[in-house]
Amino acid sequence: MTILVTGGAGYIGSHVTRQLIEQGHDVVVVDNLNRGHRCAVDSRCIFYEVALNETERLVEVMTNHSVEAVLHFAALAYVPESVAQPLWYYENNVSGSISLLKAMHQADVGKLIFSSSCATYGIPDSLPITEETPQMPIHPYGWSKLVFEQVLKDYHAAHPDFAVTFLRYFNVAGCSTDGSLGEDHDPETHLIPIVLQVALGQRECVTVYGTDYPTPDGTCVRDYVHVDDLAAAHILALNSLQAGDCRTYNLGNGQGFSVKQIIAAVEQVTGRSIPVKYGERRAGDPPSLYASAELIRQELGWTPRYAEVSEIIQTAWDWFRNHPHGYTPE
Ligand code: UDP
Repeated sequence: MTILVTGGAGYIGSHVTRQLIEQGHDVVVVDNLNRGHRCAVDSRCIFYEVALNETERLVEVMTNHSVEAVLHFAALAYVPESVAQPLWYYENNVSGSISLLKAMHQADVGKLIFSSSCATYGIPDSLPITEETPQMPIHPYGWSKLVFEQVLKDYHAAHPDFAVTFLRYFNVAGCSTDGSLGEDHDPETHLIPIVLQVALGQRECVTVYGTDYPTPDGTCVRDYVHVDDLAAAHILALNSLQAGDCRTYNLGNGQGFSVKQIIAAVEQVTGRSIPVKYGERRAGDPPSLYASAELIRQELGWTPRYAEVSEIIQTAWDWFRNHPHGYTPE
């Protein structure tokens, strides 16, 4: 099957592209390279530097390569940035995604796997979060993902053969174990990479955003899932997608770790001590998010290989140690 991957030069898209190729799929990647890395795109796929709002070019790509399904990763994904620049987020994540869907419609491509987020749940009333937990985002990034979920539900209702799966990611972390793909964000805002950069001496300390949350140690709790496990879930979701489906799965490990626990785990994995500063809460952070991913385990047989957060951190540490400047050569 020929698959179009949007955002295939990004962190998650590049890891999923790799697995698709290894499973024998032909992959076409589109990415505007705004935040992605050209060298993260596997040399075995076809690459186009195209933005989501270039509908006609997307139609051309899909038609010329007889694309049968789309995996849609391309998005802006920093919560604090979305709070500061909401219009930019809606433009990219909603308008850009509508342009992609229009192109799929014109090119008669009827299958889509959409990268959604646990951020659509906002501050849940109860934990763990299931797919039935009410969605009430608390920041523009979360809303941008929820709005496009709704666009897809409405499109699906009008086109009953259209097949879509929403994958709601929790906190994706870790890197491919062969050292060829990794995490290289600019700016970097995510906890694990930041703490590893402190371990490498690239930053003086990590600031813990808030210590007065209603959690066991007062810092925010998140569910960390390895990027290759997440990628494997995409393959399962794609292979099982049938005409007319509209499915939703949470993707998390089902266990919550506080910011302090992550810092302690990094100290243990790296054998280095991490200087910490305690700061104010960051805008848009819910206190506690962790998943029930029972549905995808039961329905698709998804079994994450990296159950321990220390294993996830180890794979990221291997990448950061060997690529202190990310994809940029020293
Ligand atoms: N965090 C922190 N210091 C940092 C970066 C993140 O305390 O330098 C916290 C952040 O407030 C959140 C958790 O770590 O509670 C995970 O944040 P991240 O940005 O990695 O992912 P998010 O949960 O926002 O998607």
